[in-house]
Amino acid sequence: MYEYISSKALFERAQKSIPGGVNSPVRAFKGVGGTPLFITKAQGAYLYDADHNRYIDFIASWGPMILGHANKKVVKAIQEQALKSSSYGAPTLLEIEMAELMKSMVPHLDMVRMVNSGTEACMSALRLARGITGKNKFIKFDGCYHGHADPFLVKAGSGIATMNIQDVPGIPSQASNDTLTCSYNDLNELQNLIDQYPHEIAAIIVEPVAGNMGCVLPRENFLQELRAICHKEDILLIFDEVMTGFRLAPGGAQEKFKVQADIITYGKVIGGGLPVGAFAGRKEIMEHIAPLGNVYQAGTLSGNPLAMSAGMALLSQLKNDPSIYKSLEEKTTYLVSGLKDAFQHSAIPFTINQCGSMLSIFFTGSPVHNFKDASASETHRFSNFFHAMLKRGCYLPPSAFESWFLNDGITFEDIDYTVHAVRESLDEIGL
Ligand SMILES: *Cc1c(COP(=O)(O)O)cnc(C)c1O
Repeated sequence: MYEYISSKALFERAQKSIPGGVNSPVRAFKGVGGTPLFITKAQGAYLYDADHNRYIDFIASWGPMILGHANKKVVKAIQEQALKSSSYGAPTLLEIEMAELMKSMVPHLDMVRMVNSGTEACMSALRLARGITGKNKFIKFDGCYHGHADPFLVKAGSGIATMNIQDVPGIPSQASNDTLTCSYNDLNELQNLIDQYPHEIAAIIVEPVAGNMGCVLPRENFLQELRAICHKEDILLIFDEVMTGFRLAPGGAQEKFKVQADIITYGKVIGGGLPVGAFAGRKEIMEHIAPLGNVYQAGTLSGNPLAMSAGMALLSQLKNDPSIYKSLEEKTTYLVSGLKDAFQHSAIPFTINQCGSMLSIFFTGSPVHNFKDASASETHRFSNFFHAMLKRGCYLPPSAFESWFLNDGITFEDIDYTVHAVRESLDEIGL
């Protein structure tokens, strides 16, 4: 007999043996209330849950499913590699090919070190910057997320903002004392901060397009000015491209905004859905990493053959057919214009930010350029909107502080359906 299993039942069972029932906090739906969906499978643009509902997926696993779920070439690459074992703990040709492929897509990249997550990539990039400069302080921007390593969990957007956690217990003050924070898009505040700590700042780390306070774009010339300031002040510039890398363009935000960072971190898209991260840069930077240099960094599963195969199968499709980026942007722009139409018909104040295939709706009538602006969003409205959309088969990020990511499996028909669902949802929550 067929046994009916619901997300509700699974969530109850999960909470008995997994903290909060999830392995990453935002998934628990705490930001929007209700029961998280337990996913049983996904194909192309669609997710299927334990209750046999189908959803149009606007998260794309937070990025990696940029070509849709269960992409044929990615699946085949994983299957073929699995037959040859899933890990050796020794070097492989795959790792060389992966590094070469990334270099062929991203401008001015000489060397790449693979890791297993975006967190690891950012943590290692900071160690490298500190190791090279001999300085300890660094600057991050309010609302930017760089993974959950101790020094970064200060005003870190994403899940921390969603759960409204102010201070994270377990982080000794020594670990975060050298973290300086500044408002995103505010060059005056940045310069003041730098002037307070002359010759003490190793690096500035930034999401070139922020995705972890909702989608927030850099103001015109913000990134170029950051580059110039770092040159002038002898500070290393770290672009955290864990979200934007291979998503905004083959060469990520560096290509899109024509700004070159000193260290670049990757994750999400590069693994094709497997747990992968990387950090990269020019030779004179990367040669400080062990075993070439003394900045130690290591990983038992780093450069894992399954992960390399999946990542390469995805990246090579993006490289060979860059029109995918045009198609994704067209679809996103079409969606955004439908969303704007629908919201304008309602009396609900809104701001929509879009960059390429990333977007966010903020429930505020004022423009959103930084975390303070994003926090002005009426989050209870977002929660109602989220559930109204979910009921209609559209799976949005379950937090007002996360970005939507389009995948190329989504059709114009899906978007028309989504816009229709938005109109209905706004009618429902506007009452
Ligand atoms: C997701 C994300 C990270 C962390 O990556 P994990 O793989 O979740 O550890 C770091 N930086 C940015 C910009 C991210 O979006």
